[in-house]
Amino acid sequence: MADTGHCIVGYNDEARVSDYEGLFEGGACPVCRFGLGPRTARNIDLASLPNGSVCALGGCYPILLIYARDFVAALTDSERGAFSMREVSANGVATDYVELVARETVAVTGVKGAEYPTAFQQSWTCSRCGRVKFVVEKAGYPYDSVFVSADAIPETHLFVIDDGWRDRIALVWSRSPAFVAAAPDIVLDPIVALPPAEAELPSPPVESEFDWVF
Ligand SMILES: [Zn+2]
Repeated sequence: MADTGHCIVGYNDEARVSDYEGLFEGGACPVCRFGLGPRTARNIDLASLPNGSVCALGGCYPILLIYARDFVAALTDSERGAFSMREVSANGVATDYVELVARETVAVTGVKGAEYPTAFQQSWTCSRCGRVKFVVEKAGYPYDSVFVSADAIPETHLFVIDDGWRDRIALVWSRSPAFVAAAPDIVLDPIVALPPAEAELPSPPVESEFDWVF
């Protein structure tokens, strides 16, 4: 298993959305609370302003991500083409954040011979909407490593990975200095490119109650 030469962008701050209604075409799954269907045209409005360059939005799932304009400014024109960009407001006032809604995503994969821990609802299948989220535990790799089948990785310098929880930006490492210069607080982790024969799609246990749904 070789390093793909790609990294994945994590988040370093959190913010709350003032109102989740109407953000997804199918509303929210009543069981897991993840959004159903595509994002609607409705823009995100925050209840308060975060500080970080990449922020997760809590309070409902999926955890949407927003990006500071400084980070977005590092995207080339062709990289911007991977997204539709949405303005983000806070209590109705314009902010320096944008949401990047991916046009396409690459799914993470499990690894043959790996464990998929279920404690604290790390790995699960939603009983209602069928969403699957899993954490891969594989000897020799750090906890929560991101595995992608090598044949699913596009030729582009940037693509978007759906890790089951949120859509995250993946970059070739050679592009990362431009983003670190623009947004020094960003968190980058390596991606593991798996030979397709070593990839598998796990079937975590079906859950009908989730810790984050009250
Ligand atoms: Zn669900």
